[in-house]
Amino acid sequence: MSRFGDGLRIIPRTAWFFAVTIYLVLATLLFEFAIPTDPELGKWPRWGQFLFVYGLFLLLAGFILLVGYVHADAKRRGMRYVMWTLLALFIPDCIGIILYFILRDPMPKACPGCATLVKSGFTFCPHCGTSLQPTCPHCGRAVDPAWTHCPQCGTPMPLSTAHPASGRVIG
Ligand SMILES: [Zn+2]
Ligand SMILES: [Zn+2]
Repeated sequence: MSRFGDGLRIIPRTAWFFAVTIYLVLATLLFEFAIPTDPELGKWPRWGQFLFVYGLFLLLAGFILLVGYVHADAKRRGMRYVMWTLLALFIPDCIGIILYFILRDPMPKACPGCATLVKSGFTFCPHCGTSLQPTCPHCGRAVDPAWTHCPQCGTPMPLSTAHPASGRVIG
């Protein structure tokens, strides 16, 4: 499945329900009853009215689905999903949704020890204590595999955590 398909799959059913219902009911009501009586739009050809109304409500339905996506995606990333759903919904011009895609946390990773989803950036699994990232043997802080020395205490890294094939030319 593509990432887009994956995104569609996590949108909650409630969001689909609202999007489809609002789209079909409101667009049809408007098209059948309101538009023909409008002094301006009533003069348009019927197919033009159709495109206008159903196109407009397609945007609205898409917006509802996007808010649903933000809700589900923020939840699975362990973020404050209620806050993000409200921001996505109420900041005008979709700015809340755009902000969400810029600021969202990376996806949590499965712990190799107990398979629990753990927030990325953690050094140890909070559930079983498995080491998720190489650490300094002296001070225990997380280190990057490419570093040769700990940035906190200066201890040289053992060869197992250093990256011999990082391709860097020294000197
Ligand atoms: Zn674990
Ligand atoms: Zn250290």
